[in-house]
Amino acid sequence: MENVYDLAIIGSGPAGLAAALYGARAKMKTLMIEGQKVGGQIVITHEVANYPGSVREATGPSLIERMEEQANEFGAEKVMDKIVDVDFDGKIKVIKGEKAEYKAKSVILATGAAPRLAGCPGEQELTGKGVSYCATCDADFFEDMEVFVVGGGDTAVEEAMYLAKFARKVTIVHRRDELRAAKSIQEKAFKNPKLAFMWNSAIEEIKGDGIVESAVFKNLVTGETTEYFANEEDGTFGIFVFIGYIPKSDIFKGKITLDDAGYIITDDNMKTNVEGVFAAGDIRVKSLRQVVTACADGAIAATQAEKYVEANFEE
Ligand code: NAP
Repeated sequence: MENVYDLAIIGSGPAGLAAALYGARAKMKTLMIEGQKVGGQIVITHEVANYPGSVREATGPSLIERMEEQANEFGAEKVMDKIVDVDFDGKIKVIKGEKAEYKAKSVILATGAAPRLAGCPGEQELTGKGVSYCATCDADFFEDMEVFVVGGGDTAVEEAMYLAKFARKVTIVHRRDELRAAKSIQEKAFKNPKLAFMWNSAIEEIKGDGIVESAVFKNLVTGETTEYFANEEDGTFGIFVFIGYIPKSDIFKGKITLDDAGYIITDDNMKTNVEGVFAAGDIRVKSLRQVVTACADGAIAATQAEKYVEANFEE
């Protein structure tokens, strides 16, 4: 007989993992489809201080490892594939991957979001060669060197403080003259002697031959540009960009209702506008994108998916 899952989950961050746990625990035949790596964005977070219970050993990767183990224990199946298309028209939903096609009675979309790029010349060419979007991954490369952090939100300021444990100096480059980050985070940052601030500024260009060698910054008030060159001894410096995220919803365009920014619109029960299709985590329109809210979404979506399958498919 054709292999039809009760529940297919696209994405394996906290929302997808919580959905897999709840789905499998409810005895649904559950498949979780992960992209390149399990865990989503939280695996590039060094410290998870605000997920209840994560006091000890609170790193993104450790939290995800335990979530994954728990979902596996309850029997969720897992496959690694890049989804290229979806067909939600029929009662049985079809998910097309590069490797295979998957069929399911219900689907949870939990594809999350990706870091927004600064969009300046040189950024993409020098990514991994001085330009980074992950402090945990790359901080130790800049031990006792100069680092610039672009952005003024919670992520930029928290990651800047983490980078300051390694770097000689960390300069936060922000496009306005005050930070967006929570006041409690700002207070800590202003007290950190290794942090400096470049206000009303944007990064205009990143230059280097195979490695970052200089960067051009523009003062948005005066229009003045300045070029910062790597210290001769260091030969390079770091540029970390933390300016928000972009939803990974391209493959759902035209299939599911999205808002103007590309986030999936759901109701409180995580239902999208298509029967049997739910969304959970950072991919959906919501006021707080955190691990705790992603997990809650995943749990609600899986519980609703179970109700939907029970009501719409006969044994
Ligand atoms: P965010 O709050 O959206 O902040 C993005 C920052 O980047 C803002 O300062 C923004 O400037 C700047 N920015 C946006 N586009 C830009 C561009 N094209 N060029 C230059 N700068 C640009 O994003 P986030 O800091 O990643 O946080 C995302 C969510 O996670 C938030 O809800 C945040 O509270 C939450 N979070 C919480 C914690 C925590 O509680 N410990 C930690 C990390 C993240 P403007 O300020 O001028 O708009």
